[in-house]
Amino acid sequence: SKEQKVLIFIFGGTGDLAQRKLYPSLFNLYKKGFLKENFAVIGTARRPWTNEHYQQVIRNSISGMEDTAKQATEFSRHFYYQSHNVDDSEHYVTLKELADQLDIKYGIDGNRLFYLAMSPKFFGTICKNLRGEKVTSDNGYNRVVIEKPFGHDLSSAQSLNDDIAKYFPENSIYRIDHYLGKEMDQNILAVRFGNNIFRALWNNRYIDNIQITLSESLGVEERAGYYETAGALRDMVQNHILQIVSLLTMNAPVTFTDEDIRNEKINALKALQVYTPKEVAENFVRGQYDENGDLKAYRQEASVDPKSLTETFVAGKLHINNMDFSGVPIYIRTGKRLATKATRIDIVFKNMPNNIFSDTEELMPNVLSFNVDANPGMELTLNTKKVSQGGYALENRTLKYTHDEATQAITPEAYEKLILDTIKGDTTNFVHAQEVFYSWKFVDAIRKAWDEQAITPEELTNYISNSMGPKASDDLLARDGNKWIFNP
Ligand code: NAD
Repeated sequence: SKEQKVLIFIFGGTGDLAQRKLYPSLFNLYKKGFLKENFAVIGTARRPWTNEHYQQVIRNSISGMEDTAKQATEFSRHFYYQSHNVDDSEHYVTLKELADQLDIKYGIDGNRLFYLAMSPKFFGTICKNLRGEKVTSDNGYNRVVIEKPFGHDLSSAQSLNDDIAKYFPENSIYRIDHYLGKEMDQNILAVRFGNNIFRALWNNRYIDNIQITLSESLGVEERAGYYETAGALRDMVQNHILQIVSLLTMNAPVTFTDEDIRNEKINALKALQVYTPKEVAENFVRGQYDENGDLKAYRQEASVDPKSLTETFVAGKLHINNMDFSGVPIYIRTGKRLATKATRIDIVFKNMPNNIFSDTEELMPNVLSFNVDANPGMELTLNTKKVSQGGYALENRTLKYTHDEATQAITPEAYEKLILDTIKGDTTNFVHAQEVFYSWKFVDAIRKAWDEQAITPEELTNYISNSMGPKASDDLLARDGNKWIFNP
């Protein structure tokens, strides 16, 4: 049977993430039969809620998803609330009692999942108390699920990890990067390692460059407090973009298991060239969004310093120094208030060494593209014969595949897939500590070079809201004779 037995603890059970993502995902797993009778959820946070109120919150957060009201009610009956201050060790004793009762009541066999949907500053304390007060079980499994951000630089990530690793072994720590739950990101491995035509071509002999765009159309919204201390480099590059880079450049895993896959991803990130300040200046650009019509400039947003130097846009050129990717520029860009919301990957192949078609002035390079978000699918551009009478010219055409509506309708949300993985014990789509460390090492070098530059607010490049970033981002590719393929 596919039914899973699990007791889920949600620390931060009253929070935004829990209500917007976690409860709807758990409900989908319930509708699909992965969660049925043998599960319960303990929500904890500071507010003094009753079980009844909590269950009402659960029903509100899944409202519109239920087949019948009875189904929503029965689902919500598996939820229990425990008011709890994470700093107070007494509270863990109460939590343990409740957990042991629910374990018996629902026949859960000691499987416990601790989802820390709270500020990372609490992770160490929570893990310590979970072990110290024996909230963990002795039969079954004990796993912790951890949200981003995992540190704000290498040393804070290492000390955060030390605080957790004292109490939980690496293979029981699930660091969430929700980009790894997206179908089209997972599809990268299917295309790379399931198709011999790409196996043969996936290296510096045939790939000219790789381009990755993670663009957002929204501004900073209500996250300014956090964003001011983070910026686009820490918020998007350290995690999501470098994870995609690792999937695109890793060597083939020996077997398709979490351990082998993560080992190869670690090696890919280890091969990232860590830049000197001079190389940072050559290979990275940053920018901040400026006003456009009704759209405010970043510095005019609530809770943003009017002289803020925080970058809302980053573009860069990465080098992976391993046998297959040495010499292949990997261009990345991400930002807020860009022309469109998209995640797009373009693999640009080298052009033909010689053009034998006298009627065609220029052959276009082949490009394999992944559309990750809206209309998920893939594209491959080829040079094909132009229809004509007499002469023989070529024309660039695109083979295009998009998931149809029925497929899109059954595509699980990233969080739903990832939560099921944590319950099943599959760490493939979670970030290993070593991946986090190599990523921070790369990002820290850029951050440090920028911080040491001591520029004035006027010197930080602006870009117009609703554009694709500052001109410097186009210039970065133009210097190599390249241009951004994705141009919405
Ligand atoms: P939130 O502020 O909405 O919720 C925080 C929760 O922690 C609340 O339930 C609050 O009661 C609880 N809490 C705070 N201090 C406490 C204490 N001393 N004792 C007990 N409970 C306490 O935050 P959120 O947006 O839900 O984010 C939670 C985590 O998830 C953060 O690490 C965040 O970075 C991460 N995250 C959130 C989102 C999102 O979409 N909201 C996306 C990605 C990552």
